[in-house]
Amino acid sequence: MRKSLNFLFNISLIFFIFAVSNLSLAQNKPLHQEPKPELPEEKNLSSIKFDSKRAFEHVRKQVEFGPRCAGSPALKNTRTYLINQLSSYGLSVKQDSFQAHTPNPRFPTVEMVNLIVEIPGKKDGIVILASHYDTKWFAEEHFLGANDGGSSTGVLVELARTLSKSKPEYTLWLVFFDGEEAMNGEWLGTDHTYGSTHLVNKLRTEGNLNKVKAMILLDMIGDMNLTVRRDSGSTLWLKDIIWNSAAKLSYDKNFVNEIEDIEDDHTPFLRAGIPAVDIIDFEYGEDNEYWHTEEDTLDKISPKSLQIVGETVLHSLPKIFNHLSSTPKL
Ligand SMILES: [Zn+2]
Repeated sequence: MRKSLNFLFNISLIFFIFAVSNLSLAQNKPLHQEPKPELPEEKNLSSIKFDSKRAFEHVRKQVEFGPRCAGSPALKNTRTYLINQLSSYGLSVKQDSFQAHTPNPRFPTVEMVNLIVEIPGKKDGIVILASHYDTKWFAEEHFLGANDGGSSTGVLVELARTLSKSKPEYTLWLVFFDGEEAMNGEWLGTDHTYGSTHLVNKLRTEGNLNKVKAMILLDMIGDMNLTVRRDSGSTLWLKDIIWNSAAKLSYDKNFVNEIEDIEDDHTPFLRAGIPAVDIIDFEYGEDNEYWHTEEDTLDKISPKSLQIVGETVLHSLPKIFNHLSSTPKL
């Protein structure tokens, strides 16, 4: 992922965005009224225990496989590990394979594989929880991606376990994207977000895109100094629900109200008109000094941060389902 290049330009819009978001907060009463008694559905999901020890273990295991860029044997091993873990919870894992064409002359064509786990809900609509599981390719650096690739994938595997026995209101897809990272150095043109772009195109071709009601992306959420900012491009009502849930859990120091502008695997979904949000802490070390460096190692990852994100997602899901049920279709 990267901060959008038009970030500076957007600073002039920040006050406007604040004004609009305040206006819409005022208008969007159901989210901000006194809490209603919890529906059985909400109790069901909120009482499920997220275990950050398990999530951390999944991060450790991924790091042990070494640098895991798209197409590498290490990523194949990671994939096998993820499939084995997910299968052990009684979930079946779909492998969505495709050939990606990259601008890197060393590997112009790369076989990539998204992993998709479905937890059937009561309604047809789909809510996607996602993370990328590839790490960035470097010619020289031994890049381990404990945070960038590892942390969100560890949380997503643990979310799969905690949700595996539930019957959610909407069908959940847990999607592990391949090829989020640029394959030829800089994040340029179409050289990034291969897996998410492929899935959006595939759903569109199959006529299934309108079944996807919302998409929640996790990325770089293991930093022990966890500070998740509000991505300006992410969908407002999703951000409001998630940030309110975090505040209710006393995680408002971790989910802050600063704004930034991020391009990531949620971007192809937003462009397709699907509500989407990126939960990302894009300040890894001081001035993001560990990001895309050999310093992105396991010792920087905090189970507490994984716990904060896991719990916040679990507490947000029923509210997201309620919002989808109560919003009239356009
Ligand atoms: Zn990255």
